Amino acid sequence: MTGTDQLDDILDRLRRAGGRITPTRRALVTALLDYDGHPTAEGLAAAVQARRPEVHQTTIYRILDDLERLGVIEHTHLGHGPAVYHLSESAHPHVVCERCGTVIEVGRGAFDALARRLQAEHDFVLHPGHFAVTGRCRHCAVE
Ligand SMILES: [Zn+2]
Ligand SMILES: [Zn+2]
Ligand SMILES: [Zn+2]
Repeated sequence: MTGTDQLDDILDRLRRAGGRITPTRRALVTALLDYDGHPTAEGLAAAVQARRPEVHQTTIYRILDDLERLGVIEHTHLGHGPAVYHLSESAHPHVVCERCGTVIEVGRGAFDALARRLQAEHDFVLHPGHFAVTGRCRHCAVE
């Protein structure tokens, strides 16, 4: 899928979810598609404002909330800092090294066994993507 197809696909989904496509919403989804890594709200605002300086940061934050409510994007807490955003279709759980901060994106099914166990034993439905699970990375574990 090319970048443009992916953008159209996401905008389609937004429309089907009842959301309007405004130039700023489009600019925000484009910024998220183009972003290399894990953008915070502030990082996304800067990316949108690089092309559309007239857009206020508060407007961008409100659109982030709207898109999240419409199921197009999701936020994740990787640590103590601000949340980061993913497109829902490419969202995944993370593990983070509590010593050096290295972030590892793990497969969607990485917590399946734990999720089944929590469901069976506690009637608890796990959402492993919302917060990162912490531990020690390969380099920090051996000391
Ligand atoms: Zn949250
Ligand atoms: Zn580490
Ligand atoms: Zn990620």
